[in-house]
This record gives sequence, C-alpha cells and structure tokens, in this order.
Amino acid sequence: MKSNPTPARDRAVVIGASMAGLLAARVLADHYTEVILVDRDQLTGGHEPRRGVPQGRHIHSVLGRGDEILAELFPGIRDDFAAAGAASARIAGEVRFINAYGVLPRVEVTTPSICATRPLIEDVVRERVLADPAVELRDNTDAAGVMVDGGGRIRGVRLVARDDHRDLPLSADLVVDASGRSGRSVAWLDGLGHGRPPEDIVHSNMGYATRRYRLAGSTGRDQFIVVAARPDRPIGMAAGVVENDSWVVTLFGYGSHQPSGAEEDFLPQLEAIAPRDLFAAVLGGQPLGPVVTHRTPTSIRRNYQRMRTFPRGLIVFGDALCCFNPIYGQGITVAAQQSLVLRSWLESGSDDPRVFFRHAAPVVRGAWDIVSGADLSIPEVPGDRPLSVRVIGRYMSRLQAAAVGDPVVGHAYLRVLNLLDRPTALMRPAIAARVLRPGAAVRALAPTDPQPTAVGA
Ligand SMILES: Cc1cc2nc3c(=O)[nH]c(=O)nc-3n(C[C@H](O)[C@H](O)[C@H](O)COP(=O)(O)OP(=O)(O)OC[C@H]3O[C@@H](n4cnc5c(N)ncnc54)[C@H](O)[C@@H]3O)c2cc1C
Repeated sequence: MKSNPTPARDRAVVIGASMAGLLAARVLADHYTEVILVDRDQLTGGHEPRRGVPQGRHIHSVLGRGDEILAELFPGIRDDFAAAGAASARIAGEVRFINAYGVLPRVEVTTPSICATRPLIEDVVRERVLADPAVELRDNTDAAGVMVDGGGRIRGVRLVARDDHRDLPLSADLVVDASGRSGRSVAWLDGLGHGRPPEDIVHSNMGYATRRYRLAGSTGRDQFIVVAARPDRPIGMAAGVVENDSWVVTLFGYGSHQPSGAEEDFLPQLEAIAPRDLFAAVLGGQPLGPVVTHRTPTSIRRNYQRMRTFPRGLIVFGDALCCFNPIYGQGITVAAQQSLVLRSWLESGSDDPRVFFRHAAPVVRGAWDIVSGADLSIPEVPGDRPLSVRVIGRYMSRLQAAAVGDPVVGHAYLRVLNLLDRPTALMRPAIAARVLRPGAAVRALAPTDPQPTAVGA
C-alpha cells in the first residue's frame, strides 16, 4: 500500500465490541495510543448469548484461515480456548462434511479448529484484547452518530449512555464501524451528503432452528458434522461439540424450507436429513434448552470502494462491510482477514479509507463468490443467473461430486471452503482435469439418496 504523511494516531474508536470490532481493536492497539471499544450491550462475560448478537445462540464454527489468524494475532490463544472449556477438531479428520454426493475425504487441511459456543469464542477473544492497556471498553453505550470537522473529516463519535441517556461526545483520529449487518455508516454517510455505497444483495432467506443437547451415543471421531443444502433439497444441518460436553444442533433451510422452530417439529425435521448415528445420539440425549430460531433474509456486500467520495477518519469493518448467508460459517474468518488488511493499511501510513476498502474488497469477494454461487444454485433464491454463473454452477456441482471420491479435489475444495485458498484455486488446470474427466461427470449427475447414510466414513 502507498504511504502518505503519517496521520495523527492518538485515539481510535471502534463501534461494536463483537468479533469484528475486537479483531480491529487488536490491530489498532499496535498503532494508536488509545483504542476505545464501544458497545450498546452490557458485556459481562459468562459465555452467555446477548441481545446485540442474537446469532450467538446458533452454531458457530471458525474456519481454518480464521483459526490461523486468531493464533497469529493472539499467541497462545488456543490454550486460552481450551482453558475456557472449548474443544477442537481436526479439519477434516474430525469433521464430517456431507454434500449431495457423500462424505468429503478426511484429508487434513490445517491445524485443529475451535469448537465452542459463539459467546465463549467472543469472551476469550475479548479478554485477550482488553488485556492490552491501550484498549478500553465502554459498554452499555450507543454510538448515535459521527462528528465531522469543517473539512469534512470524521473527528469522532456521538455516544449516548444507555442508562441515563447522557450525550458523551468522543473525539477520535479514526472511527471503525463494526456495528454489524445493519451498518450504521450507511445512514451517517448519506446524511453527510456522500450518498450510499453500491450494494450487492442476494435474497437467500435463510432460516435456522437450534437446540443444545447432551448426546447419548457416539458420532465416532467426529466433533463437527455438516449436511449441506443442495438444489433439490434446500435444507441442511450442522452439529458440533462445544464446552461442557454438549452439542449445538442446528437445522437450516432456504425460503419456504426454513425449519419451523416448533419444538415438536425439531426431531422429525432432523431425522429427515441427519446421519443416523448423530440422530440416534440426539434422540436418546437430553435437550439443554428450548429450540431457538434466527432468520437471515439477505447477504449484503457494501462496495464502499466504489463510492465517489468518502470522508477520511472512518472505515467500515466486519459484517457492516459484508454480511453473508451464514451456512458457510465465514463471518468471523472474513473479519479476521480484514484485520490483516487493516494492519497493512496502518503500516503503510495511509490515511485514505478508500485504500483500505480497495484492499479489503478481494478478501470479501473470495467468501462472497462461494456463498452467493451456492445460493444461486438453489432455484428458490431469486436473482439473475447469467451464463457465467450457470457455467460455474455446473462446474461446482461436478467438483462436489469429484471431491467425494478424489482426495486431491477434496483437499482443494476443503481449503477453499476454509478460506485458506481463493475460489480460483478450484479452476487450476490440475484440478479442472480431475473434475471434468468422465468418471467425475457421471457421479455429478447422480446425487445420492436424500437420506445421507454414509456415516463415519
Ligand atoms: C445465524 C448465524 C450463524 C452464524 N454462524 C457463523 C459461523 O458459524 N461462523 C462465522 O464465522 N460466522 C458466523 N456468523 C456470522 C458472525 O456471527 C459474524 O460475522 C461475526 O459476529 C462478526 O460480526 P460483527 O462483529 O461485524 O457484527 P456483530 O457480531 O453483529 O456485532 C455487532 C456489534 O455491534 C454492537 N452495536 C451495534 N450497533 C451499535 C451502536 N449503534 N452502538 C454501539 N454498539 C453497537 C452490537 O451490540 C454488537 O456487539 C453467523 C451469523 C448468523 C446470523
């Protein structure tokens, strides 16, 4: 990145102390004297779900690349996770990933990944971030707007205490909006006359229903089991071991196939798609709470790099920049990847947010292409499917079939799903030749029975 005169770096303010905000704060603390993390929730720890992060009740996985970046930014954090009660799983030695054609091969793609509830993951990371004396948390505080100087530069945030509604203006040399999918900056920038960022939107209309269980029975070596949705059956499930020897079990479905969320429907809906060993272990097991639901109507990519004007002193980060249909578990990992872009931007001395957005765009695009391509393969998801999308969709279907029987293709596919490689890695001649050979094509045209029986492979 190109270097400019070094901007003042006394104070940075991060709006949102969830995963993206925490990762941003970790990187900012190496460059700013003071980093203030603001969140409207009261952040008491205790590994409990909270209001500002309703998705925290549902299954969360950290992909291979995300796990690598966490270990780099927070040396020794794997020990912290273990000490807090998290388990871990080798990808894919202890992860059973079932697609339309069977179980992906058990090739190792990275170091073991964290298996824990979302609140535990967030609490452990927050503890590490707040251990840095440069970082201060102001919770129970709303960011209500930004402050601007006469030259149009963002100079801080207008905070409001949630308990007594006091106005608390806070000046800053840089404001990072990590306020989640609603993305406060969209309205703030519009109000300042910059307009709105061009957005890409996919109406995936994804629904989740989740229940926590103590299992009675074994799933073999597998700590995490996924049954992917597919065009002819747009439902799936994911289940994984978490702290306290319990499992989070999630059903998901597109549009009219969303799980109902009714308690009496959960087991029948699970039985229709879960591998038999897992279903038996759930059936004989003990529910540890109610069924909870969540809807994610859209994936939204906000192309701030394409805005004609953008004020200095502000960047947008995490889900506020791009939020995904969650079934590929990408959000935390993409935020972690953005934190490396933020670090390079700060190291370059740049003060121009558009440089940050330009470098963040390809990172976001890698994950966006995976999930939007998968969404558009589902007939019920509305949206244009130009020839290029249809051709790639057909190729990806053949690749998924080939991946089941061919460890080389399986390895390449798992690395891309874990954001360790870009999707273009799947188009390399060596992989394409294996995907397009006649045997792979035959398998691609013959998806397996809707009831996945290939357990414990
Ligand atoms: C159902 C579901 C399942 C998911 N599963 C996975 C998964 O398996 N793996 C994965 O990597 N990702 C997953 N995600 C995505 C993941 O949760 C997010 O990508 C991740 O939390 C990073 O988001 P964030 O920090 O940008 O925003 P959020 O986590 O949404 O946090 C936003 C924060 O901003 C605060 N805030 C908002 N407005 C204000 C304001 N005005 N003032 C002060 N504070 C404010 C909120 O209280 C909150 O703490 C899932 C998402 C959903 C919906």
